[in-house]
Amino acid sequence: MSDNPLLQAWTTPFGVPPFNLIRAAHFPPAFDQAMAAHRAEVAAIAGTAAAPSFGNTLATLEGAGRLLDRVRSCFSNLVSSQASEALQAVERDYAPRLARHRTEITLDPAIFARIGALHAARDSLDLAPDERRLLERTHAGLVRAGAGLDPAARARLTELSTRLATLHTAFGQNVLRDETDWQMLLAEDELDGLPGFARDAARQAAAERGLDGWVITLSRSSVEPFLTFSTRRELRERAWRGWVARGTNAGAQDNRPLIRAILALRAERARLLGHADFAQWRLADNMARAPEAVDRLLRQVWVPATRQLEAERAELEKLAGAAGHNGPLEAWDWRHWAERACRALHDFDESLLKPYFPLEGMLRAAFDTAGRLFGVSFTERHDIPLYHPDVRAFEMLGADGQHRGLFLLDSFARAGKRSGAWMSSYRVAESFAGEVTPIIVNNNNIAKATPALLSFDEARTLFHEFGHALHGLLSTARYPSQSGTNVLADFVEFPSQVLEHWLTVPETLRAHARHHETGEPLPEALLQRLLASRNFGQGFATVEFVSSALIDLALHTHADPAALDIDAFEQEFLAGIGMPQAMVLRHRPAHFQHLFASGGYAAGYYTYMWAEVLDADAFDAFEAAGDAFDPVLAAGLRDIYEAGDTRDPMELYRAFRGRDPEVTPLLRKRGLLVA
Ligand SMILES: [Zn+2]
Repeated sequence: MSDNPLLQAWTTPFGVPPFNLIRAAHFPPAFDQAMAAHRAEVAAIAGTAAAPSFGNTLATLEGAGRLLDRVRSCFSNLVSSQASEALQAVERDYAPRLARHRTEITLDPAIFARIGALHAARDSLDLAPDERRLLERTHAGLVRAGAGLDPAARARLTELSTRLATLHTAFGQNVLRDETDWQMLLAEDELDGLPGFARDAARQAAAERGLDGWVITLSRSSVEPFLTFSTRRELRERAWRGWVARGTNAGAQDNRPLIRAILALRAERARLLGHADFAQWRLADNMARAPEAVDRLLRQVWVPATRQLEAERAELEKLAGAAGHNGPLEAWDWRHWAERACRALHDFDESLLKPYFPLEGMLRAAFDTAGRLFGVSFTERHDIPLYHPDVRAFEMLGADGQHRGLFLLDSFARAGKRSGAWMSSYRVAESFAGEVTPIIVNNNNIAKATPALLSFDEARTLFHEFGHALHGLLSTARYPSQSGTNVLADFVEFPSQVLEHWLTVPETLRAHARHHETGEPLPEALLQRLLASRNFGQGFATVEFVSSALIDLALHTHADPAALDIDAFEQEFLAGIGMPQAMVLRHRPAHFQHLFASGGYAAGYYTYMWAEVLDADAFDAFEAAGDAFDPVLAAGLRDIYEAGDTRDPMELYRAFRGRDPEVTPLLRKRGLLVA
C-alpha cells in the first residue's frame, strides 16, 4: 500500500487526520485515487442489475465516496486555516477537477433514472419519514442540478461548474493576498487612542512580520478596533481606504473581472435549468422560495433601520462637533464616534469590558450553556495530533457520559488563515451503517495575546460558531446528507444565531464574565450598562447588513451580468436604495467572499436575517417563560439541533414554537420598533 497518510487507515484518537504526517504533496495523488474509487462505486450502483431499491441505490450512494470525503474535508479545512503556497497551488489545480467530478456524478443519467424510478414509486416503498425526505430531496437536488436535461445541456453544466470553481478559488486567494500584503506600520506616537489590547495585537502582528513597531492589518480583528479607537483621523482614513479597496487593486489581484465572469456563468446555468436568473434558481430550494419574499423582509427592516441610522448620525455629529470635529462624519469616522457616543451615553467602554471577557471564560460560558440546555459536557484532550499549536481539542460527552463527538477550536488570527469566523467539519455524524461520531471545527480570528481578551462582538461570534458546532455535534440524523448543518440555506443560521442570545443572559455573564486577573465577576453596574447599550448602533449595523443583502440579490437578478461595470453598478445601486451618506456596504462586491469565494451564500447573504426572524422569535419564547433554560423549551430546541434535514424546517420550527415565526421580535431586538 501507499505510504501516503491520506490513503491509510487513521489510527489516531477518534480517527482525526494524522496532521503531523500530512504534507501538501500528499493531496494530489490522494484526490486522484479517491475520485477514481468514488467513480467506481457510483458505476457499480448505476450498473446494478437488480431493480432500484432504497437500499441498493440511495443508501449505497450515501455510503459511497468516503475516501474522497475524508481527503476533501481535510484539504478544505487546512487550506482555509493554514494556507501555504503549496496548498494553494493544489487548490488551484484541484478545485476545477473536484467540481467536474461532483457534477459528473450528479448528472449521471443511470443514477438519475434509478432515483427517478424510486421517486415515482415513493408512496409504495414504505419508507421511514427521514428516508422519504432523503429520497424527495435527493431527487429534487438532481433535477435542480440538471440531471434531467439532454446530454448537450449536461455537458455545458459540467463545463460551467468547472469554470466557476476555478474563478471562486482565484477570488478567495486574491482577497487573502490583499489582506496579507497590506500593512500599516506605526510608530509609538501614532498609537493615540488605542487601548492596551489593540496595541498588544499590533505589536504581535509586527513581530510576526519581523518588524519593529506596531502593525495594523486588514484582518477585521485588527482594522476594526483601529477604526474604532484611533484618534488619528488621517490614519483611520488610510486604514479604511485599504480595507474597502480589497479586491479592487488593479493588476492580477483585481476581483472585478472575476465577478462579471462568475455572475455570467451562474446566470447561464440558471437559464439552462429553466429559471429566469440565478436568484430564482437558488431561492426555489430555500424556505423563502422566491426573491420577492426576501426583498419584502429586507425592505421591512430597511426603512426603520435608515430612520434609526439618521437618529444615530444626529447624536454622533453633535458629540463630534462639540469635540471640535468640523464637517460631516465620513465613513472612517463612524465607528470612532459611535464608540465615543456609546461611552458617553451609557458610561460604558468596550475596553473596560474586555478584561472580563477572556477567551477561557467565554469558552466556559459556551460549554456551560450547552450543558444546561442540552445536557452535554466538554473535556479538553491533549493526546490528539493537530495542525497548529494554537488548535485545541475537546471531547463532547452526552448526559450518560458517552463520547458524542470531537470539537476542535482554532481561535487566533494568523497569516495564511482566511478572515472571519466559520464552522466546518472533518466528519459528520451518521448511523445508518454503524455509529459514526462527528469531528467539528470552529475557526475564529481573534488577535493572539496572553491572555486573549475578547470584545463583546468577538464573544458573540464565539457563541455563534459554537451554535453551528452544536448543530453538527448533536445531530442524530442517520444519513450523512441530512446530518447537522446540511439543512436549507436560510435555516442553517438559526441554530448559530439563536445561541448568541445566551451570551447576554444575565446569569451567564454573572457566572463567566470574570476579570482575567482577579477572577472578580463583571460589576453589576457595568453588566446593566452593557445590556442597556446593546441596541446602540443597530441603525448602523442593520443598514450595513441589509444593503449588502440587497446588492447580493441585485447582482444575482441582473439581466446581463457579462456587461457589468461593477463600480458603476455599486454606485447606482447605493443611490437607488437611498444609502445614507458615509455608509458603505459591509462587504463590497470585490471582497464579498460569501458570494464569490464559493457559491455557498450567493443570493443567500439574506439568510442571516431570515434566520434572525426565527432566532429572535424563538428566544422570545424563553423570555416569556421567564427562564432562559426552561427545560420544556430547551428540549424542543434540542429537537431542532438534532434533526438536521430529516424534517422540513418550518415544520420543526412550528413544533418548537407552536405557531409560525413573527418579525416583531427581530425589530424589537434591534431597537427598530417605533414606540
Ligand atoms: Zn453562521
